[in-house]
Amino acid sequence: MTQTSATNDRMNRLKDRLREIGDLQGAVAVLGWDQATYMPSAGAAGRGRQLALISRIEHERATDPELGKLLEDLLPTVLDLPPESMEKALVEVAWRDYIRAVRVPAEFVSRLEEHAANSFETWKRARQENNFGLIRPYLERTVELSRELADFFPGYASVADPLIDYTDEGFTAAYLRELFSQLTCKLVPLVDAVCRKPEMDDSCLRQEFALDRQREFGEAVIRDLGYDFERGRQDLAPHPFMTRLSGGDMRITTRYNPSFLAKGLFGTIHEAGHALYEQGVDLALDGSPLGTGTTHGVHESQSRLWENLVGRSRPFWIHYYPRLQRLFPEQLTAVSLEEFYRAINKVSRSLIRTEADELTYNLHVVIRFDLELDLLEGKLEVADLPERWNELYEERLGIRPSTDSDGVLQDMHWYQSLVGGQFQSYTLGNIMSAQFFQAALASHPEITEEMAQGRFDTLRNWLVSNVYRPGRSIPALKLVERVTGKPLEMQPYMRMLEQKYGELYGL
Ligand code: ZN
Repeated sequence: MTQTSATNDRMNRLKDRLREIGDLQGAVAVLGWDQATYMPSAGAAGRGRQLALISRIEHERATDPELGKLLEDLLPTVLDLPPESMEKALVEVAWRDYIRAVRVPAEFVSRLEEHAANSFETWKRARQENNFGLIRPYLERTVELSRELADFFPGYASVADPLIDYTDEGFTAAYLRELFSQLTCKLVPLVDAVCRKPEMDDSCLRQEFALDRQREFGEAVIRDLGYDFERGRQDLAPHPFMTRLSGGDMRITTRYNPSFLAKGLFGTIHEAGHALYEQGVDLALDGSPLGTGTTHGVHESQSRLWENLVGRSRPFWIHYYPRLQRLFPEQLTAVSLEEFYRAINKVSRSLIRTEADELTYNLHVVIRFDLELDLLEGKLEVADLPERWNELYEERLGIRPSTDSDGVLQDMHWYQSLVGGQFQSYTLGNIMSAQFFQAALASHPEITEEMAQGRFDTLRNWLVSNVYRPGRSIPALKLVERVTGKPLEMQPYMRMLEQKYGELYGL
């Protein structure tokens, strides 16, 4: 065999192996989707076994020394390929995945999973009984295990770095700390200014809205946005999510609240935004690790772009509000477009992250991010966490939780997984969403006018060509720079918030 044909042969064998790993991940996703939607509760034990088995086979494939050998042989052959070469990206991304998988011993993974399952069950009780003491020893153990996981990747500057890298590859604690503290400095006074103004009335959203009509409206909206029902479907689930089962099957779930219209509507748009990203990845990458969204932060940038920058904008409702009024004449005939627009953009100091408005949301996230770093870096003891949580809420959001259930116990993240890398993606996503959106508007100023006519193809096509199509072949920071011509920065996001809420609240 010549040098080139030996390389081609290796490349083909690599692609076959990676496709099989991808298919196993797809099978896990199918089982997980079914578990979260239609599975009867008596199926839980069997499903747990099935998931564990397929995950184990997937892990064996992903850490197979034969795969490592193939990659080692291929790495030098792609070194001189141009940066935009897909084969180069494939080998490099597959190598990073391989290294990440082999560094962490299987014994540690099962120890972590067992601990996480116990912790999660205890957390449910602790939250219900408002008893932090119950979960405290578990959380202390979680912090230890999180540090232990980080130590499989030595050479970091902050112990949080390897954990952040899992979800947002390429980002570090130092970088994010700086970015988020700039944001907090600007956001706190803006929230203060807004909250000194009279509170907005959102009672029009808090009436009875028939569920089937809410669903009809939500589906019509996401169809217009471009969600392809031929390559996906929408079902109901208690905790909405998007899941990718294969290149032809991106599913979303949603949940409607009969007495609060905003919840289901914006949740539906949010998950559809994640799916639009996945559906826009180049189909030629399907079956390889490149054929999916690049990082959690970029993923959140898309769910949030569609939910907030499109779905909570005035042009969007110029088109959709008359239609919504026709569906709910009793509830909305007497409510003007302007009143409705103000209601969906109401800002208030609140305790619960998942119910927070667009403006205060990031303050909730950055508090968690800062606490994670302090816990991991040993600057904060778990025992002092509830008090520190409450202090930070008071300091930055001007509100203090009266119970730990509404405070440190509210999110499941730390209690079912790790401490570290759990929250930054949400705020990174918000920051990126504005930078991408601004770049789209600069190329196509007609986007705003089109939104007011219920047309989204110019925006979506721009996002597909620039952000979605490359999948994982371009890392997040490089993607931002390539698409927007500038490094990641928080100014476009801050400017957009200042403009929108300045106008809404007459600042
Ligand atoms: Zn999301």
